[in-house]
Amino acid sequence: MGKPTGFLEFTRELPKKRPVEERIHDFNEFVHLYEEERLNQQASRCMDCGIPFCHNGCPVGNLIPDFNDAVYRRNWKEAYEILSATNNFPEFTGRICPAPCESSCVLGINQPAITIEEIEKHIIEIAFQKGYVQPFKGIVRTGKKVAVVGSGPAGLAAAAQLNYAGHSVTVYERDDEPGGLLRYGIPDFKLEKWVVERRIKLLEEEGVIFKCNAEVGVNVNMNDLLRNNHAIVLAGGSTIPRDLKIPGRHLKGVAFAMDFLKLQNKKVSNKPIGEDFVATGKNVVVIGGGDTGSDCVGTSNRQGAISVTQFELLPKPPQDRNDYMPWPTYPMVLKTTSSHEEGVDRKWAVSTKEFIGDEDGNLKALKIVDLEWKLTEDGRPAQFVEVPGSEREIPCEVALLAMGFLHPQHQGLLIELGVDLDERGNVKANDKHYQTNIEKIFSAGDMRRGQSLVVWAINEGRQCAARVDEYLSGVFSK
Ligand code: FAD
Repeated sequence: MGKPTGFLEFTRELPKKRPVEERIHDFNEFVHLYEEERLNQQASRCMDCGIPFCHNGCPVGNLIPDFNDAVYRRNWKEAYEILSATNNFPEFTGRICPAPCESSCVLGINQPAITIEEIEKHIIEIAFQKGYVQPFKGIVRTGKKVAVVGSGPAGLAAAAQLNYAGHSVTVYERDDEPGGLLRYGIPDFKLEKWVVERRIKLLEEEGVIFKCNAEVGVNVNMNDLLRNNHAIVLAGGSTIPRDLKIPGRHLKGVAFAMDFLKLQNKKVSNKPIGEDFVATGKNVVVIGGGDTGSDCVGTSNRQGAISVTQFELLPKPPQDRNDYMPWPTYPMVLKTTSSHEEGVDRKWAVSTKEFIGDEDGNLKALKIVDLEWKLTEDGRPAQFVEVPGSEREIPCEVALLAMGFLHPQHQGLLIELGVDLDERGNVKANDKHYQTNIEKIFSAGDMRRGQSLVVWAINEGRQCAARVDEYLSGVFSK
């Protein structure tokens, strides 16, 4: 702790953003960096709290007070070394993490929490700028080969760690570029793709091999992979979206959020696309109130939608913590994202009953109804009934389904391999060994855990890699 009185002298301040009216005309990131003095002040707010609950809040266990102290002392190299000891990709989490660490910051009990996520982003960007981030070249090879299926944050973290342990790693990715949802899900305005490419290049320079347009179970033979590798890590993500099977689902204009977002990511990267699908000049309704829905809001506004409305089935959450979500738990309070700030009509406790089309099969309206929720004693929504007489139609030419993901794709890879699935349809591999029912096959990330967060995927990749390394070293087998 550099400055004992920092938290008394300075309050929480986030870096400035480009104004909404400017940023909705492009897909670039819009959060500026702090000036050095401001960064120093923000890091100095980290107090000597005794038990840093933020460690616990962070899924990768970042050593937050230690790097805040190094930042306060302007010792950038030390800050980078502390941060990279626990997180392979702070440039991703520093941009897009919902920062559970900040929810458990001790200062957050009665003051605004420390801006941990922003400080993390600054440490890694300064480290790149100053040339501290170099490919690690001192790897001693073990002669063991590992195939990683999927190149999202879980696959990348597993590949990085297994490579450092000396194993020869090949990552197979069915898309034309590595990155998983970092590349073809999360919009550029949250994470520009040069950030992903910069990291992939480093991993390649360290010896990780990437094979793209390579779908294991389709154009990459699973048996060859099993024969030619000592272990396999399945990190294929949770890719099957929840559908809304109501009348009119087939109409032109109703689409899954991911199809819409991926198209836009491709266009920003000047990649070829098939038939385009845009929100330009349309009344857009995003069905689903989570991160994916919010990304659809930001993308629709940038494409020039006439109106953007977002529906959530659940009732509006409270603004602040209540007795049932005390500090340091992650609070289920109202979240307003930067995409929401850009313009959206948010509606809670609304259900969509029908997609209504015109004579040419195009979506023209939604039939919706308000819901009344019964809450449990601790304020959680339990049961709903439709509000009589609230059924109505609203104009809508584009409806984007952003209601989450059910489980990984079973067809192809998983069925062919015969791996066991859990009751939710995810790959069954316990969090002690990350090993599936098949001895040399392991799994990590959303494919094992279910739909989650980038920081959890990184944690899963790291933990899984450690278990694979133990397995390859003979510490355990099936
Ligand atoms: P993925 O990132 O899904 O990567 C899996 C990869 O495996 C894919 O590239 C896929 O093509 C590949 N693959 C699958 N099967 C095969 C096969 N048979 N052969 C070869 N390759 C295969 N989290 C946050 O923390 N912050 C956010 O702001 C955020 N925003 C999000 C926005 C959207 C639109 C979505 C959909 C998710 C968001 N998330 C966010 C969640 C986060 O992106 C995921 O939790 C995370 O990417 C999961 O990582 P993963 O490596 O397990 O899987």
